Amino acid sequence: MVASPDGRVTAMEKICPRCGRRSSEVEFIGRLCKDCYVEVYSVAKVPEHLHYVFCRYCGRYKYQGGWNEPSGTLEETLKDFIHLVVTKKAKPTRDIEEIWVEDVHLDRPLTGPGIYTATVRIAGRSGDVVVREDRVIKVKVDVGVCPDCTNKLTKRGYNAIVQIRSSEGRLSEDLRRRVERFINKDLSTVLRATIIGTEEHKEGFDLLVNEPSSARMIASKIRQAFMGKTVETWKLVGRKSDGSRKGRLTILVRLPDIDVGEVIDVGGHPYLYLAQSRAGSPLMLDLETGREVSLKPDTLWDRGFRKRDTGPETRRLILLARTGRKVIFLDEDLGYEKVEIPKEKVRVLIDNFEQGGVYEVLMVKGRAYVMRRIR
Ligand SMILES: [Zn+2]
Ligand SMILES: [Zn+2]
Repeated sequence: MVASPDGRVTAMEKICPRCGRRSSEVEFIGRLCKDCYVEVYSVAKVPEHLHYVFCRYCGRYKYQGGWNEPSGTLEETLKDFIHLVVTKKAKPTRDIEEIWVEDVHLDRPLTGPGIYTATVRIAGRSGDVVVREDRVIKVKVDVGVCPDCTNKLTKRGYNAIVQIRSSEGRLSEDLRRRVERFINKDLSTVLRATIIGTEEHKEGFDLLVNEPSSARMIASKIRQAFMGKTVETWKLVGRKSDGSRKGRLTILVRLPDIDVGEVIDVGGHPYLYLAQSRAGSPLMLDLETGREVSLKPDTLWDRGFRKRDTGPETRRLILLARTGRKVIFLDEDLGYEKVEIPKEKVRVLIDNFEQGGVYEVLMVKGRAYVMRRIR
């Protein structure tokens, strides 16, 4: 402190010994102006080279002995990696109290392996003074294959198989699409990630799953969603290095190839499959009694089921009139013969049931089910 001519006390003015500027013109860090400080000492000591390895298939990158999930596109992930590693490894110089990375810039788009130049803007703070500096870091980029992708590629590393099959012969295209949609949309990401591959078979397809417990969960979810039945078998596939038996679990999931709106014989009894309840049971319309019933999926399998050929029971009828007690049709196939059915024995399963319309009507034991409008 010195006293100025007018008697007030002011902070002593500093003069930078390197460039001669005064503290009234520029901020100082220690005895140097902040620009000279950065030129002499830098903001931080940073690594000059980095090595980056990413998986060519999934974009995960090697870090601290493991493989990390990408944080965005390949290039964003690389920049985040540089940001992270520089922040962790940079050491502030003598008078700098803290540092942070403000920006990472690559000299060219990331297209594959090679040497890239990254310009990293590092900021540091000393007291109230903030300084910045651009540092150039060489980044060697290599591509590899992470263990998960290796397993998927070689179809190794699976210890369980979930076989998706139909109740009758081949798995139909339609049922297969429904199962695939379920796997892609309704299984959790974690569970889906345990499927390392699929294998085609004449009668269906197999899911290769890394762990038996995941396979059981996948099989059980598919069974519930499609009213299926599962059978587990355990196959010896060799011995482990300690001599113990190494097995592989196979779960056969049989799915009934039936869909809403179809007529199904269960133990010789005709049902119309109306919907699947939330609990997974089929809601069926008993076509002989006209009652709606909820069947247990197990009942289907215990009593046996198959799709019913409803050709002989289906008629093309024109709606003539509806009275208080009867519904009157004309049978188009039988020379417009009049068909009268008590009102309580007619069940309309469509929305627009109007006089003059031609309908496909299923006739079972004196009951009529209006299935669809033909015109
Ligand atoms: Zn200076
Ligand atoms: Zn990968």
